[in-house]
Amino acid sequence: MRYISTRGGVEPLSFSQAVMMGLATDGGLLLPETIPVIPRGTLERWARMDFLTLAEEVVAQFVAEEDIPRQHLKRLVGQAFGTFSHADITPVVAVGEQYVLELFHGPTLAFKDVALQLLGHLFEYLLQRDGGSLTILGATSGDTGSAAIHGVRGKEGMEIFILHPYQRVSPIQEWQMTSVLDANVHNIAIQGTFDDGQAIVKKLFNDKDFRTKYHLGAVNSINWARIVAQVVYYFYAWGRLSGGDCERKVDFSVPTGNFGDIFAGYVAKRMGLPTGKLLLATNRNDILTRFFSTGHYSLGQVIPTMSPSMDIQVSSNFERYLFYLLHENSVKVREKMAELDAGGSFEVSRSALEAVGDFRAVAVDEDLTLKTIRSVHQKTGYVLDPHSAVGFAAATGTPGMVCLATAHPAKFGHAVRSAIGHEPELPPAWVGLEQRPRRCQVLPASVTAVREFISGQLG
Ligand SMILES: *Cc1c(COP(=O)(O)O)cnc(C)c1O
Repeated sequence: MRYISTRGGVEPLSFSQAVMMGLATDGGLLLPETIPVIPRGTLERWARMDFLTLAEEVVAQFVAEEDIPRQHLKRLVGQAFGTFSHADITPVVAVGEQYVLELFHGPTLAFKDVALQLLGHLFEYLLQRDGGSLTILGATSGDTGSAAIHGVRGKEGMEIFILHPYQRVSPIQEWQMTSVLDANVHNIAIQGTFDDGQAIVKKLFNDKDFRTKYHLGAVNSINWARIVAQVVYYFYAWGRLSGGDCERKVDFSVPTGNFGDIFAGYVAKRMGLPTGKLLLATNRNDILTRFFSTGHYSLGQVIPTMSPSMDIQVSSNFERYLFYLLHENSVKVREKMAELDAGGSFEVSRSALEAVGDFRAVAVDEDLTLKTIRSVHQKTGYVLDPHSAVGFAAATGTPGMVCLATAHPAKFGHAVRSAIGHEPELPPAWVGLEQRPRRCQVLPASVTAVREFISGQLG
């Protein structure tokens, strides 16, 4: 299994090399040279596996034995998902006429844990095996930062610095980050906005001396290992519903921002998973919905919504799908991305999009999101978080879909309260969170201040 770039400028890499590289050095995204297709007999066997056994099988499809031996992979997968609080890891539950695939039983109550728990263990393993160290640096508006911190905490060879906007993340998000006291975790609260934090991080990555000296790395959604981890639960959900009957196709509805989660569903489909519809659900930030209905990909302004983890204009994983849409032609991918850079848009012919028919796209507004949380709660007693509600709303009218639930409702208690009148209950592990000791450095929104703080901590 070798990895190539969507832009064609990288010599084929091993899985390990692709994980450590993250973003391809030619500016593109890394992908396997070929996506493995799973024979029916294997699918039938996979359908009966528990999550851990299945995860090992799925991940092993993307990793050569001589790169990471199978028993090592087994251990890494076991450790990664050992932190989940539900015995099934990602259970499937019936809610009204749909199914909900609960992806929020990890340490930070959001689906990003599925990928970042595995990535943290992979990084640690590869650093121990090949030598070296890594300093993860990132800015967060809430979800990704806390999942990254919990993925990296206590791991050898790695330090993590996460910037969040001071007093501008939800209390639970802040506590989830700052109550982690492991020596390698460094929370920085910036006296400014999320954009200020992101600008500082970008400047530090562009400072070549600084980047090289501290081996800076990112954990953003472009890392291929994150996609692989997410492919697992599509197979798992199918297994639960089909019992291994390959004639049984399952439809998925996926709340989408960076196109990472839904792209994992697309990979699963290409691997031969009996998939019906892949429904791409966005909030009012509907660049993807517009693209799939018109063929125009054009950047606009980000609109804040009650599903903030999907408030995105540039979908960082979209280029991976574009590569397949353009028949794996990296010259054409480069052309489209250059158009996007220069003029903020590009176009793909509608007939090409309709011919492949990979996704159905639906945008859901704030009003419908709230109404969905309310009516699902009234009819079934089940509480959706606002992100999951976007996917659930998009599925309305097509019964029997698997709707991905990407966050625990307690994580977005404020929005849920405005829909159903009270805050959802916190899972037991998080009760008393606000009383735990915390550590966080408050700094002015200045590159110099952050650079000095990091140097001071690392020496
Ligand atoms: C990140 C996130 C999403 C969007 O996932 P993408 O892979 O970026 O499309 C949806 N819901 C929640 C709760 C998230 O944290």
